[in-house]
Amino acid sequence: MMRGTLYIMSGPSGTGKGTICTELLKTRNMYLSVSSTTREMRDGETDGVTYNYTTDEHFEDMIKNGEMLEYAKYGSHYYGTPRKHIEEHLSKGTDVMLEIEPQGAMQVKKIYPDAVLMFILPPSMRELRRRLVERGRETDEQIKARLKNARWEFSQAPYYNKIFVNDNLGMCVREVKMFLDETAQSRRFVEDLLNEKY
Ligand code: 5GP
Repeated sequence: MMRGTLYIMSGPSGTGKGTICTELLKTRNMYLSVSSTTREMRDGETDGVTYNYTTDEHFEDMIKNGEMLEYAKYGSHYYGTPRKHIEEHLSKGTDVMLEIEPQGAMQVKKIYPDAVLMFILPPSMRELRRRLVERGRETDEQIKARLKNARWEFSQAPYYNKIFVNDNLGMCVREVKMFLDETAQSRRFVEDLLNEKY
């Protein structure tokens, strides 16, 4: 049985990575990991589905107990991927998707060097700013902080396997799907080659 592939999707808020992941999951059999976070729940989010919301104390306990595959502080909050389920799905042959920021992505890359890292970029800083303002979820100060952080995140994009520019959502989703198909095909080819009798 062939192992599943571990995919990582990063990109600052406003790049559309969440929507892209949702679209992918409509047509692919993949396990989307549910992260733990200490940030507050936003409107429209569901505990146990969007995130597992928890306290600083509990999160720090999980780190101490080795329950986190990776974690990072983003703003003033913890975000992390629980180790449980990830290896289980991969060894059963199911592909796994982590939607995480670059500090965490680099930690996962060390543990799973064969993980496939994808980064979603906006077409420009100006467009990213426009999307954040239009969303109307944050104050001007918070948007400024988001953009500053976004610049740092962009600087990490060269460490990823594949970079996508989300100028048009439909087109970007198609490109990501094509990339996943190509990756699956080439991994199957390698697997067949390794199993070939000679
Ligand atoms: P938000 O608060 O907007 O939901 O997420 C903030 C950032 O944290 C996003 O870039 C998101 O991808 C990232 N993030 C979400 N879950 C995790 C996680 O488990 N680990 C890490 N390292 N980052 C995460």
